[in-house]
Amino acid sequence: MDDRLFRNAMGSFATGVTVITTEVAEEVHGMTANAFMSISLNPKLVAISIGENARMHQHIKDANQFAINILSSDQQNVSKQFSGQLNGESEITFATYKGLPILEDALAVVTCKLYSEYVVGDHTVFIGHVTGVKLEQKDPLLFSQGKYRELKELEE
Ligand code: FAD
Repeated sequence: MDDRLFRNAMGSFATGVTVITTEVAEEVHGMTANAFMSISLNPKLVAISIGENARMHQHIKDANQFAINILSSDQQNVSKQFSGQLNGESEITFATYKGLPILEDALAVVTCKLYSEYVVGDHTVFIGHVTGVKLEQKDPLLFSQGKYRELKELEE
């Protein structure tokens, strides 16, 4: 099967956008990710999938914890910053919540302790045990077919 066809088909599945943040040796790291899902209510578990070549892959193992910052519709540039799509590292201000660095203007934040991890092909699925949740009244940033988008409510 053609890789491009596979990527295009998977990329047509619309998602929100998150930035995964963690801290190792007093240094804050962030990475844009849309492979995020809620897994279990009791216990509260979530999953993210990180490519084996991403630096965040080792950072999560070292820190043993991470935060998922769900981006709001006005945070397109934040997504670009943490996926290496902007030239130069812009100054990002982090707040601290449950002992983890988080993005201040996110729509929601989920903090986790690393619960388990599974190597799946060229990615690792990290399961997080939720330690805290913050939620604001904002619209989400969406990503589909390689483009950032906004939510539009359909008429009934
Ligand atoms: P780095 O290359 O070290 O960091 C990524 C970028 O973040 C760099 O530009 C760096 O300057 C910046 N950055 C890091 N820390 C800071 C800081 N403290 N202050 C300011 N800037 C900082 N990849 C996956 O594996 N899984 C996914 O689910 C996934 N989803 C994606 C969804 C979207 C919409 C996009 C655009 C990309 C996605 N990616 C995903 C790709 C991933 O974001 C990039 O490959 C990323 O560059 C890998 O980052 P890294 O961990 O190697 O870290």
